[in-house]
Amino acid sequence: MLLRVTNRAANFLSKMPLGGYRRFACALLLAFIALPAISAQEPAQTPPPNSSTPPVARPVPAAGGAFSSTSPPQAPSRAGLNIVVLDPAHGGTDTGARGTGGVRESEIVLEFAVKVRRALELLGFQVVQTRLANENPSFDDRSALANAQTGAVFVTLHISSTGPPGTARVYVNSDLPAEREANGLIPWDRAQAPFLGLSHKLGDLVQGNLAQQFRGSPGDAQTSAVRQLRTTAAPAIAVEISSVSVENRQDLDGMAPGVADAIARGVAAFRPSYVVAGVGGAIR
Ligand SMILES: [Zn+2]
Repeated sequence: MLLRVTNRAANFLSKMPLGGYRRFACALLLAFIALPAISAQEPAQTPPPNSSTPPVARPVPAAGGAFSSTSPPQAPSRAGLNIVVLDPAHGGTDTGARGTGGVRESEIVLEFAVKVRRALELLGFQVVQTRLANENPSFDDRSALANAQTGAVFVTLHISSTGPPGTARVYVNSDLPAEREANGLIPWDRAQAPFLGLSHKLGDLVQGNLAQQFRGSPGDAQTSAVRQLRTTAAPAIAVEISSVSVENRQDLDGMAPGVADAIARGVAAFRPSYVVAGVGGAIR
């Protein structure tokens, strides 16, 4: 179950109580995050997912964020994609969606995460989880963890309360205003804006693999205003599996290996598209 937001919810952070990580998150909101120098590519420049062609050096964003093909690449390193921040949604007092058979979304996603993590690690990715037990970090805690990484993508896992059982959908955050503040920085609650193109690419690759595993799933990623994604300064997707309405929990458990395989394959296929200039992530 995804928490979808409206524009009015953009003031969410200003109404948050201060304390602990929330204080940290709010401090980041006030300070804004630096726009990371990530080289978004035109689709034509991107190798096809299964291409064996090695990635080429790509132009580095010029000062002010404009891309220039004449900009001398300042030691572009293909540090690239090495980390997957995996987010089992909900947890703690937030059980997420609940089925009539007692299925709790917060528990299922944690079990799915174990298998997704294993599949990713087998392909050489380092996996960082936003939670490992029945706890409930805030949206901003989870985003802050992702934003502190260099060379990472973010995947949040959900079980829906709707949709045909046995299918899975990928969501990318809907368009966000990309205007920078006068100081050239992008506010915390629009951190996803510069990454939307890459998020769409990642989302389509994962969705394509899910569609092969689970008939009836869409062929491409969809867009929605997903609260968790908006504050994440990395290519970010939400994967939603249907559904908690299954009568037998084993029907959901049986999807985990296929979901894990599809996410791992999708992220691996995305790897050549993710080229970061030789600077760190959004927040250090
Ligand atoms: Zn959910």
